[in-house]
Amino acid sequence: MTAPESSSELKHVDPEQEQDAAIQDEWGPQVLHSTKALFEVGDVFFYSVVISLFFGGLHYYGQQFWSHILATYSKPVIILGGSFIVSQVGFWFWVSLLAVLDLYQLPKSFWRYKIQPLKVPTREWYWKALWVALQNQFLVGVPTGLMLYQLMEWRGNPYGMELPTVMNVAKEMIGFLVVEEVGFYYGHRLLHHPKAYKYIHKQHHLFTAPIGIAAIYCHPVEHFMCNLSPLLLGPVIMKSHVLTLWLWITIAQTNAINSHCGFQLPLFPSPVGHDYHHEVFNKNYGPVGILDWLHGTAGTREMAEEKKQLRAAAAAAAAKKKQQAELKQE
Ligand SMILES: [Zn+2]
Ligand SMILES: [Zn+2]
Repeated sequence: MTAPESSSELKHVDPEQEQDAAIQDEWGPQVLHSTKALFEVGDVFFYSVVISLFFGGLHYYGQQFWSHILATYSKPVIILGGSFIVSQVGFWFWVSLLAVLDLYQLPKSFWRYKIQPLKVPTREWYWKALWVALQNQFLVGVPTGLMLYQLMEWRGNPYGMELPTVMNVAKEMIGFLVVEEVGFYYGHRLLHHPKAYKYIHKQHHLFTAPIGIAAIYCHPVEHFMCNLSPLLLGPVIMKSHVLTLWLWITIAQTNAINSHCGFQLPLFPSPVGHDYHHEVFNKNYGPVGILDWLHGTAGTREMAEEKKQLRAAAAAAAAKKKQQAELKQE
């Protein structure tokens, strides 16, 4: 007589599905409000709020504030110091909030928006990312800021007394998006070439389920080539006002952190596309999605299908578990 099979073999339930069902029991059903990688209603709302707040603030305090800045500080201090403060405040504000959500699960209700619920961020991940983020900000970011100052000076006076108009900012933002899409897409694809990947880009892909701070968890060459250059080249090409540059830095940086945060939060642009890139490596290279669509690297359909299957499997496992518990009680 052969020994009876173990209970897990008899049940034929994938342990990952069981774990997923357990997480769902604890945090409630997973809610992904969309799997779309391109712009959607949440994106339009998000950017409209940011832009309205910026111009609303400008209307009241802008001219006074700007005259004070021009009268008080030298030009290098305005571009270098101002850009550094704007990027630091924006970066650490979002990263701190996300750290509380990741490490302390506060607020717990947000965990239903986790894109890969089986991968729970740890303190170890944070320490690892923190060290690399600081190195990139200071050793790559500061010298790039010096270059930016030289380039903006060379292109023309970016400190006009007149504030930029809404129309100019809107037109320039479209230009920045084009430069960002082209620069990031092709730079990123190049880094996925086997010869470059293992030396440079592999570091960024250590996070198969990314967290906000991992937006700049990368090799210094990648930080300069893919993160900073496409971001800053647009304002240099378009001879932008330094205030427009600061608005763009704030929006683009928030978007980069959101793309890596691991949660699809309501009212924020969908990060599922880039999260999926971290999961499968060869889809969704670009930030906007147009070049992915043109080159056939958009992963939206497979991604939607995979997420649907994962949710269906988890729901089936949860139902089975509930049924078994009810049977035991009887
Ligand atoms: Zn990434
Ligand atoms: Zn990549």
